[in-house]
Amino acid sequence: MKTFDVVVVGAGPGGATAARYAAMSGASTLLLDRRREVGVPVVCGELTSGSTFPEFSLDSDGPWVAHQMGITRIVFPEGKILDFHGIKLVTLHRDIFEKHLVEMAMDEGAEIRMNTTVRGVTDPGETSTSTHETNNDLSFGGVVLKNGEQVRAKVIIAADGVKSTIGKSMGMVRAPAIRDLGRAMKYIVRSKNIDQSMGQFFAGEEGTQGYAWILPKGNDTANVGIGTLGGTRTFLRPALDRFIEKRIPGAHKESFTAGCLPVTLPPTRTVWKNVMLVGDAASMVNSVGGAGIRNAMVAGRIAGRIAGEYVQESKPMSYLEKYEKAWRKKLYPRLRMNYFIKELMWHSETSSKHFYPLIAPMNRIMNMVPGLLSWIQNKQHM
Ligand SMILES: Cc1cc2nc3c(=O)[nH]c(=O)nc-3n(C[C@H](O)[C@H](O)[C@H](O)COP(=O)(O)OP(=O)(O)OC[C@H]3O[C@@H](n4cnc5c(N)ncnc54)[C@H](O)[C@@H]3O)c2cc1C
Repeated sequence: MKTFDVVVVGAGPGGATAARYAAMSGASTLLLDRRREVGVPVVCGELTSGSTFPEFSLDSDGPWVAHQMGITRIVFPEGKILDFHGIKLVTLHRDIFEKHLVEMAMDEGAEIRMNTTVRGVTDPGETSTSTHETNNDLSFGGVVLKNGEQVRAKVIIAADGVKSTIGKSMGMVRAPAIRDLGRAMKYIVRSKNIDQSMGQFFAGEEGTQGYAWILPKGNDTANVGIGTLGGTRTFLRPALDRFIEKRIPGAHKESFTAGCLPVTLPPTRTVWKNVMLVGDAASMVNSVGGAGIRNAMVAGRIAGRIAGEYVQESKPMSYLEKYEKAWRKKLYPRLRMNYFIKELMWHSETSSKHFYPLIAPMNRIMNMVPGLLSWIQNKQHM
């Protein structure tokens, strides 16, 4: 049976980042994923903030950047439009992006095994209350793979996405209520009629408790999708087809994927014994917009660093609790605020239109003070 200091389950943005920072600290690190190829298939709107790149020492012009947009447009159900200038939004080639994140982890010394499904956690050890006990005293737990093989680990970082197998096997997360599970789907479309200058969001489109999006990717292509709360009865794919026909008539659809995302608050505990939950596994998603890439990376970095320190400095297991405090300090206030807004905004099929009078004055102020939005954006990433 192989033993590693840190085993990370899931090679998405959260897990790849966790593995990168754990390995950087000198911990022997194994990254496992059930997919055959990193980043494939892409089930995502592929939108992120431009400031994600410098924050993680990534090149802002790297091959993972598909397109940068100068304007963010919100279209309300009765046709009113708000344009926000100055938000630095970027569409990714997410498959290339994830591959690069994994390569960065491997450059730091992490090993990766794809096509490897983790079934659960074994014997995670006891939580230490003694400050004298070090991780060297513990009988380490580990993970069990689908083929029955076991891998021992001092720390397990579960970045295994929504409906986290590890989180459930540890009793840390429960299956989300249907209304707290967003459903979303997207096509990559090609058309000369795509406005490449702006990212567009259509609130309440097709009667959804959510929105549809057109996110340009350059070269006459765009990521076009629709998302809604799980409880909505709308048949999403025909709704998305109608949306495309209405907004980009005649567009050629090149590929289709669908998935779900947690639009709820994180669980009360994201550390239990030697297991830490990262990203979607801990519902670290913006409940209004559905963005979770950067949050997963922020939490992954914190988890990887703390796991590395724990192992390298032979700290007591209670040291891992630092993760809980650190990620909450950085992400929780905004997650909570967005969850609250989502509860107000999407609780009925018509409520999105009531948000126009609330957002419109803010939009005017933002556009009157050039640079304010990008300043706020940068502040959030510090
Ligand atoms: C349709 C859609 C559109 C979205 N659009 C955006 C967007 O535009 N911008 C944005 O920021 N966010 C978006 N999101 C959310 C975003 O995709 C997630 O928040 C983000 O991927 C979270 O990263 P993660 O690393 O936590 O999890 P994931 O990216 O889900 O990675 C989890 C990994 O774990 C692996 N895994 C799962 N279970 C196991 C197991 N048992 N054993 C081994 N491996 C396992 C999976 O194969 C996967 O590779 C969207 C989501 C959806 C569904």
